[in-house]
Amino acid sequence: MKKDDCIFCRIANGEIPSKTLYEDSEFRVILDLGPAAKGHALILPKEHAENLYDLPEGTAAAAMVLAQRMARIMQKKLQCDGLNLVQNNGEAAGQTVHHFHLHLIPRYIDDGQSINWKPGKPTQEELEAIRKLIAE
Ligand code: AMP
Ligand code: ZN
Repeated sequence: MKKDDCIFCRIANGEIPSKTLYEDSEFRVILDLGPAAKGHALILPKEHAENLYDLPEGTAAAAMVLAQRMARIMQKKLQCDGLNLVQNNGEAAGQTVHHFHLHLIPRYIDDGQSINWKPGKPTQEELEAIRKLIAE
C-alpha cells in the first residue's frame, strides 16, 4: 500500500519529481538530495514499509539484488574507489524518513566522509551472554 502522507511513497510512485536512476514496477532508485558523496543514491520500494522489520521478505531480497546491480553500474560509471550500503531503522539508528530505503554511497579516496563506530571491548563472557540472548 501507498501512504499519502509519506514523501518516499510519493517520490517512488512518481507524484513528486526526483532524479531517477532506475525504475521498475517494484522500485525507484533516486539521487539523494543531501549526498554524502557524488552519486549517493537511494533504493525506494514503491510499496510503503516503514523499515526493515516490516518489509516483505521478497522485497528485501529484490532490494539486495537491485543494490548489487546498481553498485556495479555506479562503480563502472563513477569510477568510485569503494561503496557503502547503509540502511537505517529507527531514530536511534539515524532513520529520518520512515519509509524503508537503502543508501548506496559511492566512496572516493579522500572524500572526507566516514561511516564509523567506536569499537567496544566486550569480554568473552559478555559476548556469550549476548550470543545466548539473540540465538537461543
Ligand atoms: P535516513 O537518515 O536513512 O532516513 O536517510 C534519509 C535520506 O533521505 C537522507 O540522506 C536525505 O538526504 C534523503 N532525502 C530526504 N528527503 C529527500 C528527497 N525529497 N529527495 C531525495 N532525498 C531525500
Ligand atoms: Zn512510504
